[in-house]
Amino acid sequence: MDTTGPWTRAAAAAGLLAGGEARPTVFARMSAKAAELGALNLGQGFPDDDPPAVVADAAVSAIRAGRNQYPPGIGEAVLREAIAEHQSQWYGLHWDAGSEVLVTTGATEALAATILALVEPGDEVVTLEPFYDQYAALIALAGGVHRTVPLTSRADASGDLVLEVDEVALRAAFSDRTRVVLVNTPHNPTGVMLWVGALQAIAEEAARHDAIIVTDEVYEHLTFGPAHLPIATLPGAQDRTVSISSAGKTFSVTGWKIGWITARPELVTAITGVKQWLTYASGAPFQPAVAAGLGMPTSAFQDLADSLRARRDLLTQGLRSIGFRVSVPEAGYFTAADAAPLGEADAMALCERLPEEAGVVAIPLSAFYRDGAAGEASSYLRFAFCKSHATIEQSLERLESWARHRC
Ligand code: PMP
Ligand code: GLN
Repeated sequence: MDTTGPWTRAAAAAGLLAGGEARPTVFARMSAKAAELGALNLGQGFPDDDPPAVVADAAVSAIRAGRNQYPPGIGEAVLREAIAEHQSQWYGLHWDAGSEVLVTTGATEALAATILALVEPGDEVVTLEPFYDQYAALIALAGGVHRTVPLTSRADASGDLVLEVDEVALRAAFSDRTRVVLVNTPHNPTGVMLWVGALQAIAEEAARHDAIIVTDEVYEHLTFGPAHLPIATLPGAQDRTVSISSAGKTFSVTGWKIGWITARPELVTAITGVKQWLTYASGAPFQPAVAAGLGMPTSAFQDLADSLRARRDLLTQGLRSIGFRVSVPEAGYFTAADAAPLGEADAMALCERLPEEAGVVAIPLSAFYRDGAAGEASSYLRFAFCKSHATIEQSLERLESWARHRC
């Protein structure tokens, strides 16, 4: 039986197949490896933390109160109102909860519905590179053409790795074929945040080429220095921007899959048209729970960021003393660490060996590049620090012993 369909053909064209089969994502494969070998998992980005009690209690209450059937396709009013209120309170962005907010099944569905709604075959989509792996898959599925802007790397005065956006390259990636620029700040896999210069360049080029800005902001609250700056707050940007976020990271509920979109009504309508045929509606009892979370005081958001910052410092200091060249991210769950100083030029091969040799799982940064495009990042690994202190400490002990004993 021929099981080839449009997805298989698009994935093959984008180099996303292995031996003719859809390959599992690098996250799924490495988490399976961690489970099989009992290795410590600093690979896939899911936290060891429990959600805030107010969020967990609200979900339990909603289930007990019988909120278990299909919610409205666009999302429960209580959550749409909480999303609009959150955007207003944190960023001064005003959205109509009735027509400018859509609840989705995680940011994953928000991204899928947005790209499928907006990108026609042959349209160009600009992203940074490295990029969250779903982007390439979605662009391929829509028949779009993926244009990337490489992050540049350099060493700072203390020898740490610094990853940056080159604004000249960013502007050069746009053309009149650009339909969407897909921004991700704070950025996965590097924790880089885009500041006003780069955001301004994106907004200007998008306006010049009449492109739509799609911004993936799932790490918006996990910042360790200056607060997140949404591109929709730049003058003139809100009308052409689809902003996407999710409860997964902010409330440590990656398994709940509640995300959302804010955009002008005509964009929300186009995207809802796809969402309704993908999932129709999203997790009923989790919606009031996420609404309760979005209404928490500012200090509760700060507590999680502070706790993550302490774990970022623990992991980056430990990796540095083992001999990796580390980056100290401004936000998010991950640090990029260069294994070249340890004599390891091929992070892909190293990540295959590490679970057995060291009992630790990491993800090669090359998984976030198009095939063969990683260049000097071929020796970089992504380590997650959204894990418990104990897991990070034990991982560092294992890596330290591995580095000392390997021949
Ligand atoms: N975008 C980025 C940058 C991510 O790292 C992730 C994974 N958490 C997602 C989107 C998907 O988010 P969700 O789990 O809400 O579907
Ligand atoms: N966002 C997570 C990461 O980067 C993975 C999510 C997934 O496995 N789809 O690790």
